Amino acid sequence: MGTLVEMAGVEFAYPSDNRRAALPVLRGVNLRVRRGEFLAVIGPNGSGKSTLVKHFNGILLPSKGRVTVDSLDTANQDNLLEIRRKVGLLFQNPENQLVSSIVEEDVAFGPENLALPPEEIQKRVAEALEAVEMTPYRHQTVHTLSGGQKQRVAIAGLLAMRPDCLVLDEPSSMLDPPGRRRLFEILLRLHRRGMTIILVTHLMEEAALADRVCIFGSGTILREGTPEEIFSEPDFLISQNLEVPQINCLAAMLRNEGFNIPASILTVDEMVDYLC
Ligand code: ADP
Repeated sequence: MGTLVEMAGVEFAYPSDNRRAALPVLRGVNLRVRRGEFLAVIGPNGSGKSTLVKHFNGILLPSKGRVTVDSLDTANQDNLLEIRRKVGLLFQNPENQLVSSIVEEDVAFGPENLALPPEEIQKRVAEALEAVEMTPYRHQTVHTLSGGQKQRVAIAGLLAMRPDCLVLDEPSSMLDPPGRRRLFEILLRLHRRGMTIILVTHLMEEAALADRVCIFGSGTILREGTPEEIFSEPDFLISQNLEVPQINCLAAMLRNEGFNIPASILTVDEMVDYLC
């Protein structure tokens, strides 16, 4: 499996205004995302995670270094349409991403802009709504949906473009717990079918679902590893103002008491099974 998204030596600062000097947000980021991988990016608020992911489809361009998607350089204008088809970006608030008032019209918006034949558009809309379990709502008006349902319609809109990669920036922050659970069931199913997923989150239980976790801070990637590796360093997480999962606190306490608790234990149920 090859590299899908690559950042090499990426630096970025928002332009300065009269009051503020330009502050570097990205300070030499190197990152490689493999095709089919589920990568979680965690880091404190304001550390630059959203700025980072906006580089993945050319919304922002590096002031130094290079970002490529499937070997296409985001700095080359001629590549941007293709890159935006390959990488679908989803933000926190689905309201900002929905463009039509009827669910199926919203999902059809992207393929219509590609000027695809009507039968192909219908096929893609049906498949995308099925993938996010929103088929029964296809004729419904968008404003009658819950936050979680709107988020799923927004994902369907991205899926209808047949992307290689979904980038999700805090997608669950406006959802209730059932909405969150449903969203992650859908994302994990898409991942099992081969979709590359890059998830920005500050919630460790969401990061725990990924294949690999990067801790982002001070404009760069401070640590990367499997969730087990990352969570086995609670002191480092605390130093970055990140909430340490309770299960890892419990494991650390038990280790102090002399228990040999493997780092692979991520849930209370697994801990109970192991200890019994
Ligand atoms: P995170 O996603 O980790 O919360 P952001 O990428 O949103 O962090 O922000 C990183 C830094 O960049 C913050 O200091 C923020 O104030 C600043 N920033 C974000 N967007 C802009 C913008 N459009 N113009 C100027 N500064 C910005």
